[in-house]
Amino acid sequence: MKRGKGIYDALPVWAQTIAVNATSARGYRQKYGGSFRHILAQLESNERKSRDQLLAEQQDAVRRLLRYAVVHVPAYKGRSLENLKEWPVLEKATVAAQPEKFLSDEFDPRRLMELHTSGTTGSPLTVRFPVETHQTEMAFRWRHKAWGGTPFLSRGAYVAGHPVVPPNQQRPPFWRWDRFEKRLLCSSYHLTPQNLPAYLEALRRYAPDFVHGYPSSLYLLAQVGGCKPKAAFTASETLLDFQRTAIEAAFGTKVFNWYGNTELTCNIVECAAGNLHYRTDYGVLELLSDGTMICTGLNNRAMPLIRYRVGDRATAKTGDCACGCGFPLIERVEGRVEDYIRTPDGRFVGRMDHLFKDVRHVREAQIIQRRLDEIVVRIVRADGYTDADADIVRREARQRLGDAVAVRFEYVEAIERTAAGKFRFIVSQLPPDQLKLPMP
Ligand SMILES: [Zn+2]
Repeated sequence: MKRGKGIYDALPVWAQTIAVNATSARGYRQKYGGSFRHILAQLESNERKSRDQLLAEQQDAVRRLLRYAVVHVPAYKGRSLENLKEWPVLEKATVAAQPEKFLSDEFDPRRLMELHTSGTTGSPLTVRFPVETHQTEMAFRWRHKAWGGTPFLSRGAYVAGHPVVPPNQQRPPFWRWDRFEKRLLCSSYHLTPQNLPAYLEALRRYAPDFVHGYPSSLYLLAQVGGCKPKAAFTASETLLDFQRTAIEAAFGTKVFNWYGNTELTCNIVECAAGNLHYRTDYGVLELLSDGTMICTGLNNRAMPLIRYRVGDRATAKTGDCACGCGFPLIERVEGRVEDYIRTPDGRFVGRMDHLFKDVRHVREAQIIQRRLDEIVVRIVRADGYTDADADIVRREARQRLGDAVAVRFEYVEAIERTAAGKFRFIVSQLPPDQLKLPMP
């Protein structure tokens, strides 16, 4: 839709709805035709297998992938077929420099679909994949929705960056209805305090089976209340604890978080028992000693990324889960290096959302670090905000960062999003040499 965005924005709402539905109808067969149903059933059956069986099947899939890659993908030609862990770690910059070398000679690049990673963490990268991979991806998404009691084609309300409402539109509707996928597509870009009640009214009228959104978008909606869906799903940004608490309270249901990446190499999903599972049928996840995630996607033959460093970190967890599925457990997914505050004594401090856990009158906040000895806390105040709230933040910051890091406050009307409409809680603007993680 990108190229016609200017034309789209100029249409009346009813014509925009037709355009949204035409796009959806075209996309529907790509998403849910072909082998979608078959894959969906396969993934469901995997959820009933034992961990041993899942890991054995994963090993088989890895062997097939390596055997394929050394024959068909220029970057891997001539590699030995030793076990996966002997392969060198693949950096994003390496792929970004020569993406064509990672494409399989069996596919015509012009017929592949593509996704783009953001340039916020180095050079942007275009990931190419065939339509079957697209269908596989959709099957994983709907299996996760099923974990919340809302199977394929349940009615969803999405607040996840769909650019369906012109940026300058001042009045509702800030959503468009997609009848093919039974989705209410809500704009993430119009969530101002004045507009929130209109969103809420639309959600209640539509009464979706589930809501799905950026954590920051659902969190904003939660400020004014919620509809009563069976489940809430979050993805695309780090889900912060205070966001989860607010969303679960307002919508009266559990939040199911999803971790994935544009490179299609890893999928970590939250189950009904509240645990995170890493799906072994999606990819191989290795964790280095400092938590660095090294990922191998198993479902994209056109552009296999093998032992790829995605830039995120995670902690493993031992044991089994009450939900009964055998996928290994993950304690938590940490953000990128850019999601940490660096202290003058060399520490990296994450989980900064705890600064706000006892603060009641903050609508949104963001932490910016430009120098090692100072953080800037940008706050959108809610009614009732006083110095006492700032004192809590300052106290909590001192406990985590020490006295060597000053805390400065900046009060703003709104916190700007990235180009993709995402919210970033921590923005590190330190020079790159100060952001290097110590190597294990
Ligand atoms: Zn579980």
